[in-house]
Amino acid sequence: MRTHYSGDVSPELDGETVTLAGWVHEVRDLGKLKFLVLRDRAGMIQVTAKEGVTDAKAISAVDSLSRESVLQVTGLVKSAPKAPGGVEINPTSISLIASAQSPLPLDVTGKVDSDLDTRLNNRFMDVRKPQVQAIFKLRSKVLEAYREFFLGRGFIEINPPSIIAAASEGGTNLFPITYFEREAFLCQSPQLYKQMIMSTGLDRVFITQPVFRAEPHNTPRHLNEIFMLDVEKAFIEDEEGVMEELEGVLQYILKKLADDTPGELELLGAEVDVPKLPLKRIDYDDALDLLAENNLKIEWGEDIPPEGERKLHELFNAPYFIKRWPTQMRAFYSRPLDDEPRYCSAFDLDFMGLELSSGAQRIHDHDQLVEALESKGLNPENFEFYLKAFRYGMPPHGGWGLGVERILTSICKLTNVRETVLWPRDRHRIEP
Ligand code: ATP
Ligand code: MG
Repeated sequence: MRTHYSGDVSPELDGETVTLAGWVHEVRDLGKLKFLVLRDRAGMIQVTAKEGVTDAKAISAVDSLSRESVLQVTGLVKSAPKAPGGVEINPTSISLIASAQSPLPLDVTGKVDSDLDTRLNNRFMDVRKPQVQAIFKLRSKVLEAYREFFLGRGFIEINPPSIIAAASEGGTNLFPITYFEREAFLCQSPQLYKQMIMSTGLDRVFITQPVFRAEPHNTPRHLNEIFMLDVEKAFIEDEEGVMEELEGVLQYILKKLADDTPGELELLGAEVDVPKLPLKRIDYDDALDLLAENNLKIEWGEDIPPEGERKLHELFNAPYFIKRWPTQMRAFYSRPLDDEPRYCSAFDLDFMGLELSSGAQRIHDHDQLVEALESKGLNPENFEFYLKAFRYGMPPHGGWGLGVERILTSICKLTNVRETVLWPRDRHRIEP
């Protein structure tokens, strides 16, 4: 139904006939002159109808248009330095394809602000806004870059199950479901499965998968359904063996966004600084000291709160790793350091004051893993399906998980992670 998107119509096409299709963004009626702004996913273009020049049927079509109706416009391209994009269309025909009722549930032009709830309740219309569309174009680009990076490094994409019988980390944050005659759960992480795969010889895998966390808190950084990017890799010497890939993919994603989607970044006012590698690494204990020097006291063994992550971001002004976490704080599968088992080989990657990713070298020795489960008060019998994979030849391995919503929130400098999900799931929202 169209020959071009608005963005493809440049002044060089002056004099050619094109057909466009999209939504009525705005109509301005100056009597003899009528301006119509047509919007499609590539942007907006001005359609100018002049009484006495433009076909009378096309003129009367403009008169009866409601905002956000869908139109098809055929016309001549005219270079017009004053019009947005330097071109306008002189229409020869305008057809109404689908009319929009009024009043609209929210304003698409950005002149009237709507609160986030109203926007999410009317997401189909909210995503008509170019700045909102930009977020989802960037999201697609992030996923493309992630896949490209790992496929390029010989990783294989695997698809573990989303329905599970038992908690992966003994967590309480699971959503129970009815599975025929029994109870099952939605998976909160592909953790145990991606580790079991390390015993198969597939060696290097990546995953893109929704995960579900029944975390009752309602914060600007937490969702209950997350799209998780996971990686697991075998035959590593230590956690650096997977941190290198995490910083590599972050750099790759940022570079790809800067190269391929400058327009979207500009719409959001987001400048991308492609970081130099290696990223800064700081030990947990040193992070605590640094924060104490900056008037934020955190007890040893406590998590670094969002305030601390923001403070460290201010100090470093770049993404950074926190390493050498107290073993007691991290998941049971994190490998304690051989020389100092109080600390483990877990790490976090923080960016723009937000935790982007957590990872670790894992315990690969069966008996040590059983001990670690017990020390966390978990019953090894419940993990038999997992432990089995550690009895018949399990190489050293490690990996991490990265929430795509967090990385987008950081890059686009958004204040609420919900902005990065089409239909977010949170404590109060499962509709639409
Ligand atoms: P946080 O401390 O910020 O609550 P977490 O340490 O509980 O996160 P992990 O279990 O380490 O989260 O999950 C790995 C990654 O998944 C996180 O670094 C983050 O990018 C993302 N993630 C985890 N939970 C959420 C959530 N509720 N909403 C959005 N993203 C999340
Ligand atoms: Mg974490």
